[in-house]
Amino acid sequence: MNLGLSEEQEAVRRLARDFVEREIAPHVVAWDRAEEVDRSIVKKLGQVGFLGLTVDEEYGGSGGDHLAYCLVTEELGRGDSSVRGIVSVSLGLVAKTIAARGSEEQKRRWLPGLTSGAYVGCFGLTEPGTGSDAGQLTTRAVRYGDEYRITGTKMFITNGTWADVVLLFARSTDAPGHKGVSAFLVPTDTPGLTRRTVHGKLGLRGQATAELVLQDVRVPASALLGEEGKGFSVAMSALAKGRMSVAAGCVGIAQAALDAAVRYAGEREQFGRTIAHHQLVQELLSDIAVDVDAARLLTWRVADLIDRGLPFATESSKAKLFASEAAVRAANNALQVFGGYGYIDEYPAGKLLRDARVMTLYEGTSQIQKLVIGRALTGVSAF
Ligand code: FAD
Repeated sequence: MNLGLSEEQEAVRRLARDFVEREIAPHVVAWDRAEEVDRSIVKKLGQVGFLGLTVDEEYGGSGGDHLAYCLVTEELGRGDSSVRGIVSVSLGLVAKTIAARGSEEQKRRWLPGLTSGAYVGCFGLTEPGTGSDAGQLTTRAVRYGDEYRITGTKMFITNGTWADVVLLFARSTDAPGHKGVSAFLVPTDTPGLTRRTVHGKLGLRGQATAELVLQDVRVPASALLGEEGKGFSVAMSALAKGRMSVAAGCVGIAQAALDAAVRYAGEREQFGRTIAHHQLVQELLSDIAVDVDAARLLTWRVADLIDRGLPFATESSKAKLFASEAAVRAANNALQVFGGYGYIDEYPAGKLLRDARVMTLYEGTSQIQKLVIGRALTGVSAF
């Protein structure tokens, strides 16, 4: 097994690191305080090719493999998880799903805009009453002639207030397939679709999280993505890849926690020497370092499996489970190294911890990942 990066992958990583230094790092605290990332970042992400990774150039994509995608995601997560989430959803969950499952017409309509940053995409699965048990969603799509009319509410939708298109999951009335759920591409300016920003989040404050309300929203039959009634498998395969992306973002958080804590430990003096001299501080640092490496290796393994066309869903759940819990631990340990200064937002540890916390909740909570792994081990579904 070759754990080294190719020259091309190293170049992509350098590009992402420079981009974060230039376009993100100077604004992180201000965006977090303002509860909004500057929207111009989307176009910049598009221009540098980060919104088109792994998508064919024919559709405006920038190509590259999944390891390159992980490297960019890690660097963005190291800079600002709110920005990382824009890419993980607009590219990772929406554009990649259109590329994999969409019709030729859907690819031509949506992919050039999504990969260039002209459009933002969002992923509408969760509802107020159905989170972990997403298969029980109640949004309805009723077919009338050659159109569908969709009614329902979606909750906690990342990019929701910014998005131009929502990859929406709804129960279509007479679909015979799995759980009768179908996937639709719904332009967000369609009459009947309204959205409300979800305020007061613990972390990811810069991100536009929204509730979407659909009241008799009419879309043509051509908005159906994939086969009618097969939408649940569309959602699950999008999330299987999405979990790798969340894991990569978590590696970035943990790496940022490590960098900041090591630097601070070398500067701060207590008891007549820098705190790096104290063994218990070194314990905190080494715990973070081991979490970073383990989370990164699990995440890279998923990318390698995908790039080799091998099954990866269980490994993606393992990586997401470990990396999200590791990111929370790492940020919390870093905060401890900073002492009281870790508790104020002039220093990075507090934000890293707040941003990390949601990673154990979305795209399947840690409990749900354990059930996915448990099912693969035993053949028994314990959901
Ligand atoms: P619940 O499902 O109600 O879970 C509550 C608790 O019960 C959890 O601890 C859970 O682990 C546990 N639990 C539930 N079932 C079981 C079980 N069978 N066994 C053991 N424990 C169980 N959704 C989208 O569709 N698109 C998005 O873009 C999106 N972005 C998000 C952004 C943010 C900031 C947040 C907070 C959420 C986002 N979500 C999004 C929703 C997210 O995926 C859900 O919150 C998540 O799936 C959990 O659902 P829930 O909140 O309803 O919790």
